[in-house]
Amino acid sequence: MADEPSKTVKAIETPTRLEYTYSPGRASTRFLRNMERKKIMGQKCTGCGKVYVPPRGACPRCGLPTEEEVQVADTGTVVSFTVVRVPSDSIQLELPYAAGSILLDGADIPFQALLRDVDVADIRMGMRVQAQWVDDSELGPTFQNIQWFHPIDEPDVPFEQFQEHL
Ligand SMILES: [Zn+2]
Repeated sequence: MADEPSKTVKAIETPTRLEYTYSPGRASTRFLRNMERKKIMGQKCTGCGKVYVPPRGACPRCGLPTEEEVQVADTGTVVSFTVVRVPSDSIQLELPYAAGSILLDGADIPFQALLRDVDVADIRMGMRVQAQWVDDSELGPTFQNIQWFHPIDEPDVPFEQFQEHL
């Protein structure tokens, strides 16, 4: 009976849970305090001049501290994107949905964010977008102040202008 193929164990479920406390450090703390006031502050490298958002306190290319703070816009360009169509227990969003790599105006490094208020078939590299903030009453020291990015009525940015920032 033990050899009966239909009784073979093929998978087991082992639920796990991890809780941890994250200490953001000086650069991220300043960034998050500014986010609370709807200001997106990047940090500029004194060596290569690149602006990092969110800042990490040092330039990974030059190894120099990024001490100069510069405000960047809440508008930007989609430099790449992914459309998610496969359901998963960990996904709470209605499918399909899209995540984009957004290069904010004034920043040199893109970051990932949701793209909404747009048909996923219409999303393209170079598309201009703007942050959708939470209500002012809900602002806190968190990146979640930006709920998603939505398209704005501006011409697409040519690939040549953002190819260095993919
Ligand atoms: Zn640098």
